[in-house]
Amino acid sequence: MTDERETDLLATVPDGLFIGGDWRAASGGETLDVADPATGEVVKTIASASVADGVAALDAADAAFPAWAATPARERAEILRRAFDLLQERKEDFALLMTLEMGKPLAEARGEVAYGGEFLRWFSEEAVRANGRYGANPEGTGRMIVTQHPVGPCFLITPWNFPLAMATRKIAPALAAGCTVVVKPAALTPLTTLAFAKLLEDAGLPAGVVNVVTTRSSGPLSDAIIADPRLRKLSFTGSTPVGVSLLEKAAKGVLRTSMELGGNAPFIVFDDADLDKAVEGAIAAKFRNIGQACTAANRFIVQRAVVEEFARRVTERVESFRVGRGTEEGVIIGPLIDDKAVAKTGELVKDAVGRGATLRAGGEPIDRPGSFFAATVLSDVPAGSEILREEIFGPVLAIVPFDDEDDAVRIANDTEYGLVSYVYTESLSRGQRMIERLQTGMMGLNVGVVSNAAAPFGGWKMSGLGREGGAEGIHEYLQTKYTLTANPFA
Ligand code: NAP
Repeated sequence: MTDERETDLLATVPDGLFIGGDWRAASGGETLDVADPATGEVVKTIASASVADGVAALDAADAAFPAWAATPARERAEILRRAFDLLQERKEDFALLMTLEMGKPLAEARGEVAYGGEFLRWFSEEAVRANGRYGANPEGTGRMIVTQHPVGPCFLITPWNFPLAMATRKIAPALAAGCTVVVKPAALTPLTTLAFAKLLEDAGLPAGVVNVVTTRSSGPLSDAIIADPRLRKLSFTGSTPVGVSLLEKAAKGVLRTSMELGGNAPFIVFDDADLDKAVEGAIAAKFRNIGQACTAANRFIVQRAVVEEFARRVTERVESFRVGRGTEEGVIIGPLIDDKAVAKTGELVKDAVGRGATLRAGGEPIDRPGSFFAATVLSDVPAGSEILREEIFGPVLAIVPFDDEDDAVRIANDTEYGLVSYVYTESLSRGQRMIERLQTGMMGLNVGVVSNAAAPFGGWKMSGLGREGGAEGIHEYLQTKYTLTANPFA
């Protein structure tokens, strides 16, 4: 049951689609129930967009594009900055809302508000710096002018695991660049995006610049938008299989694409590591968001001399974790997103144990209402186990021993994914070698969390295309024009 504060907050969240500055019901009258994964109870019912609603949202984004693209960068920046300030005022509401619809502990939800907000501030600052260049051509016969232009209307698809930050990481650079957008959040966690659209409206964003369609039919709605020639850019965060199928569809329109896909992060602990720091980093890299992060450490690759001590210490920590609804004080293990996630986590553990892994803690769903799985530690996980190949997306810490550096690199790179890696060593030269040898787009060297709005976030291999955040992030929404002019002295 939601308490009074939660009920009041949920009542402030819009329940309609946000199209062209209007909040409206779905054209077919369809609705979508949003449940609290800690209890399984429906907390709010909202509109579920039809294909026609999706196209109407693109109509609005297309109509708003010329004026928004022509709006001075400083004005666009000021709106983003106002949105940042409003988010600070409303941070407790956003944190609680995310805990209610997604389940993460409130302390982590507050962390996500801080992280998600930084994209608004960062891109309000980048908006005014999307410059081109001017110079003579090598032959001296002309002058080359390179200018940057917004790509046009964009379609942004976000996942359920970071409902606010995955939205702001796309919306802020798009708006900074002068693009208009249609946002489609995951059906499991649409409320945060609706509340954020309301915040943008309050910050003075013109109608049609951001449009939000929540839906139970993401496939058909997305297909129609992606096939529409007015769309110029698709940015997707989610699983690799869905990303691959969207890329195929986007190819028909030769759309610009950004893909933030799955991960299978190695977390390597060398025998010269500071073990206290490594254990601390491991807990953060594994159990943040109850293991449901693309950057979550998936495979703990630990040198044989320290593997027993590492396993003992992380098991001790895991056994002290408090389980509960994310709103309760001190909870580390909230619910997984749904029962399917619980079943999948259980299967991965069963497969590893069946192949000979040692179960040191947890290993089972927790018998209580909602979708809970116990924090789990497995050691001596044999090569070939599913859990080493698949993204776990649950609170399972799987340990694999290794002998030497080459062995560690081989195991770490033995995956189709390449999002992030973590390395713990006190040796500078070894750390430098690992930067060059690990095939990932990001790396934490003696740190367990790398995300930062000022850094280029993104993966290699099947983990994606493009970068979000950093100086790079805005360029995903800009296209380049080169103009040759005559030598003015000729
Ligand atoms: P998902 O099932 O791929 O869904 C992601 C988004 O795509 C949701 O909005 C979903 O909406 C939508 N979607 C699903 N099928 C679609 C289709 N056929 N056409 C258009 N849209 C479709 O992934 P998820 O389970 O929500 O998220 C977890 C995954 O995201 C993990 O693999 C994780 O690693 C990845 N992730 C990556 C990053 C990164 O930055 N690299 C960050 C966070 C998460 P519906 O659910 O409503 O259908």
